[in-house]
Parts: sequence; structure tokens; C-alpha cells
Amino acid sequence: MAVAKKIQQELNKPYVLNGTPMHFTTSIGISVYPDGNLSANELIQQADTAMYRSKNRGKNSISFFNREMQSAADHRIKIESQLRTALQENQFELFFQPQMDATGQCYGAEALIRWQHPQKGLLSPGEFIPIAEQSDLISLLDLWVIKEACRQLKEWQQNGTILQHLAVNVSSRLLRKGNFVAKFEEILRETGANPEALMLEVTERIFIDKVEKVAYVIRQLNELGIAFSIDDFGTGYSSLSYLKSLPFRQLKIDREFVRDILTDGNDDAIVETIIAMANKLNMWVIAEGVETEQQLEILRQKGCDHYQGYYFSRPLTERAFRKLLRRH
Ligand code: C2E
Ligand code: CA
Ligand code: CA
Repeated sequence: MAVAKKIQQELNKPYVLNGTPMHFTTSIGISVYPDGNLSANELIQQADTAMYRSKNRGKNSISFFNREMQSAADHRIKIESQLRTALQENQFELFFQPQMDATGQCYGAEALIRWQHPQKGLLSPGEFIPIAEQSDLISLLDLWVIKEACRQLKEWQQNGTILQHLAVNVSSRLLRKGNFVAKFEEILRETGANPEALMLEVTERIFIDKVEKVAYVIRQLNELGIAFSIDDFGTGYSSLSYLKSLPFRQLKIDREFVRDILTDGNDDAIVETIIAMANKLNMWVIAEGVETEQQLEILRQKGCDHYQGYYFSRPLTERAFRKLLRRH
């Protein structure tokens, strides 16, 4: 621990890059030898697991590998292998959560993945997306979702179900993959879906690094007619200059701010600021996690006129979603 602290102190000193002092945090993971019969690889893997623990504890911390982490690592490896099987055996399904406009009409939806697990039943993304995100599995999952969403759009188009758009979540990892645009074009060709009916939700994580590459991909996809929305807006790091220069159509106000909008003056102010910024930048704005009439009312007063949340509907199976659309 003493050595780790010294290393951390050194690394946390500001570095001067191009005349600007830059500050860093250091997440350290430690495994101890001899503690069982470990190969060098296993030892490094344990240190790596401990380092992720440090990152999850909010950065700049030091963690030792322990038994509990071992079981978390075992769990992760098991889920990863089950996810690969699930992809081959088509165990995933899309649910659709309606998006409402100011007149109470459903104009769009967000596609949310579910896993029909052979033993555990229907699993929510919270139980497997964070694990998939630690490797390239997330790209495979996201591509599956895009393809399924396109297939569904085409089917709706054929049976007269008209939506302004279907929103799909795309990980920052997939956006950085070299062949993503080509893959997307292939899916559009194969399914015959209308790209103008697609909106990709990306998080502010895309701004963290290699932004130029991501910017290029976003522009290319936008030229195909695909719209972009920034998800969980306000919870991460956003570059305002990219917000202005990239073709984002929409900001999505994170559930966290909506949740406490009636009780927390800061959240109220943040929501107001996001709405004003969207208006000034000529972007649409949608609030997620709207659960009560009071939240809806205050959002409406502030000029936000698109909403998603349990107040209107939970995510639905395709059948239930179409039924809701017919009612509208
Ligand atoms: P998200 O993109 O922020 O999606 C919204 C989540 O909030 C959904 O959870 C939805 O069920 C939930 N939600 C909607 N309205 C309300 C509300 O009024 N109150 C509350 N408390 N919750 C509400 P879900 O479906 O469990 O998805 C969780 C997260 O998993 C998503 O958060 C998204 O980050 C990720 N995810 C889901 N599907 C995909 C996917 O296909 N690809 C990727 N990369 N991530 C996905
Ligand atoms: Ca989303
Ligand atoms: Ca969100």
C-alpha cells in the first residue's frame, strides 16, 4: 500500500502539455504472490481485476485482489460465454418504450434489449450490458440490435405502422470500429429499412478520446439519413464545440435530473439549462424517466415537449407496443 501510494502521488502531479497543466487520476490494482499456485498471466489478470475495482470506486483509488473479486471475475467470464451462445441461438428480444409528444401522441420509440435466458428467464440489460461493454461483445450485441430494429422498422412500414423514428442505443466502442459504416450500410441494404426512421442514442463517452474518428463516423451515418441523440445528457463530459459542430438532432435529459426535479433546485436549474441550450442550438430535447404528472407538468412549463417514462408506458413487447399505437 505504501509503495502504491508513492506511485500514485507521483502520477497525480500535474503534467504540462503544450503549456497547459493537465491533471490525472491513477487507479491501481494489486495482486500478491505467493498466494496460491498462480502463473504470471493469472497474477496479472488478478491485478487487472483489482484495477477495475479501483476505477469503479471512483478513480484514484488502490485495491487489492480478493476472493470476492474472484467470484465477480468468474461471474463475468460465465456471462460472457453465455452471451456468445445467446447470440448464436437468438436468445435476445427487443422491447419498445413509447416516446410521447406534447399532445400525448406516441410519435416514436426506444428499442431496449432483453435476454431470454434459458435458465434465468427474461434478463434486463443492466445484468449483462455492463459485462458486454468490457469486451468487444458489446459491438456484436449492438449490431444484432441494429439489425433487428431495421427488420422491425421494415415490417412496420409494410403493415402501415408509421413512427417518426425508432431510437437505438449504440456503444462508443462500436462507433470506433473501423468497418461500422460499411456494416450499417449492409444492414440497411439487407433489411430495406428507411435510415431516416432511425435515431442512434450515443452517450457523452464518445467525447472522451479519438473524437475525430467518431466525428467522421457520425457525419457519414448522418449523410445516410440517420439521426443522432445524446443519451444521459449532463451526466458525463461533453465538448460544447462538438455539440455545435456535429449533426446531433436531439439531447436526452437523463433520468437522474428528472427524478428530483421537484425537490432539488440544482436539478431544476440543470434541466432548464439543457432545454435552453437545445433550443439555442436548434436541437430537439426529450426527457427520460418521466414517472409522474407533476414531473411532466414542470417539464412542459420549461418548454420540453417530448417525453419518455413509466408515466406513459414501460418498455413493451412488439405486440403490446403495436396495440398501444392502435389506441393512439
Ligand atoms: P437507457 O438508454 O438510459 O434506457 C432507459 C432505461 O430507463 C431503460 O432501462 C428503461 O426501461 C428505463 N426507464 C424508462 N422509463 C423509466 C422511468 O420512468 N423510470 C425508471 N426508473 N426507469 C425508466 P433498461 O431497458 O433496463 O435499459 C438500461 C440500460 O441498458 C439503457 O439505459 C442502456 O444504457 C442499456 N441498453 C439497453 N438496450 C441496449 C442496447 O441495445 N445496446 C446498448 N449498448 N445498451 C443498451
Ligand atoms: Ca437510451
Ligand atoms: Ca438514460
